[in-house]
Amino acid sequence: MTKLTINSVKNSKIDHVNFNELPFGKVFTDHMFSCDYVNGEWVNPTISEYGPISLDPSARVFHYGQAVFEGMKAYKDENDDIFLFRPEDNFDRINKSAHRLAIPEFPKEFFFEGLEQLLLLEKEWIKTGKGNSLYIRPFVIATQPAISASPAEEYKFMIICSPAKSYYAGEVRVIFAEEYSRSANGGVGYAKAAGNYGAQFYPTSLAHKEGYQQIIWTDANTHEYLEEAGTMNIFFRVNDTLITAPTSDRILDGITRKSVLQLAKDNNIATEVRPVSVAEIKEAANNGSLKEIFGSGTAAVINPILGFKHGDFKFELPALTDNNYSSFFKKALNDIQYNLAEDKHQWRHKVTK
Ligand SMILES: *Cc1c(COP(=O)(O)O)cnc(C)c1O
Repeated sequence: MTKLTINSVKNSKIDHVNFNELPFGKVFTDHMFSCDYVNGEWVNPTISEYGPISLDPSARVFHYGQAVFEGMKAYKDENDDIFLFRPEDNFDRINKSAHRLAIPEFPKEFFFEGLEQLLLLEKEWIKTGKGNSLYIRPFVIATQPAISASPAEEYKFMIICSPAKSYYAGEVRVIFAEEYSRSANGGVGYAKAAGNYGAQFYPTSLAHKEGYQQIIWTDANTHEYLEEAGTMNIFFRVNDTLITAPTSDRILDGITRKSVLQLAKDNNIATEVRPVSVAEIKEAANNGSLKEIFGSGTAAVINPILGFKHGDFKFELPALTDNNYSSFFKKALNDIQYNLAEDKHQWRHKVTK
C-alpha cells in the first residue's frame, strides 16, 4: 500500500466562515482527500488543499455518469472528541454502489486512513453543540479520457467536507408519485449513483410548483406502493405501529433507517417492514389512525412530513403530540451521535490518530 501524502495548508480559511449562517453544502473545509485508480490499482492517496481539479473533457463521468457517492457526518462531543456514526456501513455501501456501476472497489485501509487523517486536520471545522456537524462526501468518478461507452479504466476517489448546522429542511409536504419513477426492478435505485439524483430534479421541480417540497416515490410498475423519498427512507406511524417498506434493488438501504428500526425494537415500539400501499395510508388518513410520516437520512436524521397529496386527495398530518416518534428517534439518534447516550450497538466510531 502506498503511503498517504499530506500537504496541509498554511493558512486556514476558517476565520472567513460565519458558522452561524451556514447554507447546507456550500462551504467546504481547507483540505480534501484524493486517490487515483490507474493500471488496475489505487495509488497516490493524498490530502491536499481543497480546490478545483482538472479533468479531460472526454472523461467518462461527463458522458456516462459513472459516479457514486456517500453521505456521512462527523460529530464532536464536549471533550472535543470526534465521532463518526456507523462509518463501516458507508464504506460497504460505496463499494456496493461502485460494483453496480462497474467501478473498482476502494480499499478499506485507504478509506479509513484518508477519512480519519482528513478529519483530524479539519477538527476546528467540527463545532461542539447539538446540531453542529461536519457533512462528509466521499465520491468516485470515472476520469479516463475516452468517450467509448464502456467502463473506464481510470477513476478518482475523493472526500470533501462541509460544515453543517442543524439541518432544517423547512416544512415538508410531499406528493405520492403517480407518473414518474425513481428506480425500477433490476436498476440502480439501491446505489448512491449520481444519475439517480439528477433524474429526480425535474419531477421534483413540478412538485415545487404545486407547493410540495418532495416526492415519495412509488413502485414503478403499479405506483401503488410507497417506497422512499429522494434522499430519505420513509416511515409511517399508523396508531402506534411504525411501518416502512423493505429494502430492495429499488430502495436505498439507509443507515438511519436501519438504526431507527433497531431503536424501535430496543424501545418496544412495534414495527412492520413490508410493502406499504398508497390505499392503506389514505384509508388510515381518513379514519384518523395515521399519526405521523417522517423521512430518515444522514442530512436531517429525522424529518417530519406535514402533509401529502395523491391525485386530488390532500391530507394534513395531525399536530405532533408529546410522545411523537419523530422527535423521539431524532433525540435518541443524536444522543448516540454526540456521545451523550450509551452506545449499545457500537455505532459510534471515535476518530483517533
Ligand atoms: C442516502 C439516501 C438515503 C438515506 O441513507 P442514510 O444512510 O440514512 O443517510 C435514503 N434514500 C436515498 C435515495 C438516499 O440517497
